[in-house]
Amino acid sequence: MATINENYLKLPGSYLFSEIARRVAAYAKANPDKSLIKLGIGDVTRPLAPAVTEAMHKAVDEMATGAGFHGYGPEQGYEFLRQAIAQHDYAARGVTIAPDEIFVSDGAKSDCGNIGDIFGVDNVVAVCDPVYPVYVDTNAMAGRAGDYDEASQHWSKLVYMPCTAENGFSPAIPEEKVDLIYLCFPNNPTGAVASREQLEAWVAYANENDAVILYDSAYEAFITQGDVPHTIFEIEGAKTCAIEFRSFSKTAGFTGTRCAYTVVPKELVRGGASLNSLWNRRQCTKFNGVPYVVQRGAEAVYSPEGQAQVKETIAYYQRNAQVIREGLTKAGLTVSGGVNAPYIWVKTPEGMGSWEFFDLLLEKANVVTTPGAGFGPSGEGYIRVTAFGDAQATQEAVARIVSVLG
Ligand code: PLP
Repeated sequence: MATINENYLKLPGSYLFSEIARRVAAYAKANPDKSLIKLGIGDVTRPLAPAVTEAMHKAVDEMATGAGFHGYGPEQGYEFLRQAIAQHDYAARGVTIAPDEIFVSDGAKSDCGNIGDIFGVDNVVAVCDPVYPVYVDTNAMAGRAGDYDEASQHWSKLVYMPCTAENGFSPAIPEEKVDLIYLCFPNNPTGAVASREQLEAWVAYANENDAVILYDSAYEAFITQGDVPHTIFEIEGAKTCAIEFRSFSKTAGFTGTRCAYTVVPKELVRGGASLNSLWNRRQCTKFNGVPYVVQRGAEAVYSPEGQAQVKETIAYYQRNAQVIREGLTKAGLTVSGGVNAPYIWVKTPEGMGSWEFFDLLLEKANVVTTPGAGFGPSGEGYIRVTAFGDAQATQEAVARIVSVLG
């Protein structure tokens, strides 16, 4: 008889977005005349940059010729894209990353999940609370998380690092020894960033303890403040203890186009093995590369026109973030994030629960948000608002919230 991976049976239902959808659908059905504005899900809304679509059109035409046809590409990504990434995302910041330390993929979600393949099941894993759920669920699937406890909403073997207003939503180094540390800055859901000093402390900890930092930098393009590190590899010593995940999804609107990359430095060695070699082996075995057309589109993000165009789109979302921050502050709410990130983390008023405030905004302002409690127990008492919406709709949503709470 075929047996199954029983760890899957331990996973709680992915309650958050299905429950939001259920409540929104029920409200919309009962109130068909109301127009809802959705500032909940973290998907982008602006079109791809013209430089990107032009490059993709050109690549499609190449594919229609004998000379320009591309079949299976290198599993690690085409050299032209790996070179462009090494140059623009690293060398331009004074960081030396070689193209063969860069692995192009179809998404940071897949990479953050798949990276667990190269690590033992007995590693102690530390995650933030609140957290992007992929880190937790994929470790649970691999058997590294133990058992799930409904009451505490915690897995028995994971080490949770609370991210609260008191620590500026940037976690303290845990007291117990941990081996794999997931960090995400700029953060989803809180919009917080880590300072250079904080990242230096993490790198020192990881090197001293032979731990590995799994650094998700999917929102790097939203950093506006000059002193905030854009990559963990700006920190000295990071190449011997960190893996970085990056994505074109939020940088250049590739959520539906799919292209990302992971950096595994060659200096990173654990148990006598090069993690770069292990990840290369894993990718070559289980992954057949990102489409040529998509990689040409991603390459065009780095052209002068592409850079100007994607920066304009990021600026559009950043203006939304500012509108949300200012408007909600005016409404008397305590907000954080939204300066170096597309997410605004909003404290619920008067000790209201996350879901209670979600319902109030849905019913009274007809605005859909995301309850912070869905990202972990420390998210209780918060909602997440995204800046990825249409500018006019965002202004309207904020005006409605101000009038409801004002
Ligand atoms: N990492 C974080 C923190 C995210 O919030 C998301 C998407 O929302 C991803 C990764 C997924 O990125 P991708 O679209 O490249 O899979």
